Amino acid sequence: MYRAPRGTSDILPGEQGYFRYIEERAASLCQLYGYERIDTPVFEDARLFVRTIGPGTDIVEKETYTFDDRSGQAMTLRPEGTAPICRAYIEHGMHNLPQPVRLYYFASIFRYERPQKGRYRQHQQFGVEAIGDGDPALDAEVIDVAWQFFDSLGLRNLSLQLNSIGCKLCRPVYLEELKGHYSAHVDRLCPDCKARLRKNPLRLMDCKKPSCQDIAQSAPRSIEHLCSQCKEHFESVVKYLLILGIPFEKNHRLVRGLDYYTKTVFEIQPQGEEGAQSAVGGGGRYDDLIEELGGKPTPAIGFAVGV
Ligand SMILES: [Zn+2]
Ligand SMILES: [Zn+2]
Repeated sequence: MYRAPRGTSDILPGEQGYFRYIEERAASLCQLYGYERIDTPVFEDARLFVRTIGPGTDIVEKETYTFDDRSGQAMTLRPEGTAPICRAYIEHGMHNLPQPVRLYYFASIFRYERPQKGRYRQHQQFGVEAIGDGDPALDAEVIDVAWQFFDSLGLRNLSLQLNSIGCKLCRPVYLEELKGHYSAHVDRLCPDCKARLRKNPLRLMDCKKPSCQDIAQSAPRSIEHLCSQCKEHFESVVKYLLILGIPFEKNHRLVRGLDYYTKTVFEIQPQGEEGAQSAVGGGGRYDDLIEELGGKPTPAIGFAVGV
């Protein structure tokens, strides 16, 4: 007997109504905030994701569905929504439009996850991207869209976790501090973290192993190592969230799993739970990503939610 592949599921007629309801909520909220829909291909040139997500990340190393097509070109099934949209922004000259360009999407996302609760190898994401404006008011707007989305679905007792991981000026200094801290405890680190210490030190902060969590708890905090511009930016985001009345907690261990984030990172979690597994959505700023892909320097921010 054939079965749906592990980590995937059929959406039968009886469940369609739930998915359509969520899509309609999201679409009408996006319309209200001036976000327009974009669709990109299910697969892209594999190099796009290696370049943007980062060669040392778990996603690129262990989780992508990558294959050579019949002409021998490496293709990857979309493991996240942001990089393809940035590729499209550049390809279609969207920097000529009034900025920021506000976009949203529903997309199938493919990751070779270890099957466990809440993890799928194919799932649907709703996300928004606001591209072409570095103003902290835009961070607050995107967080507000995410917050209103959950609110419109009747989800309560959520908490917004907020952090800033700095920019290419202040982050290297912070990473050195972080490496110094972890090097002093290297014998207590799990094998994954030993590798992260060399390849991707920021990710040390979100290891779920108890012994590593102790070390993270006392680790230097990125918000205490921000340059004056990042510091001012973070303070403004905080001020706007207070004005909007969105409750938040500063979480110095929130770093997100992708290399391209700068400054603001955030997650929305059910209250009283912690860790990436429990987050219902998240996002952040990625001010260098479009330039790294060959576009003009273009600040941007977005978030995504697994449906
Ligand atoms: Zn900075
Ligand atoms: Zn660890």
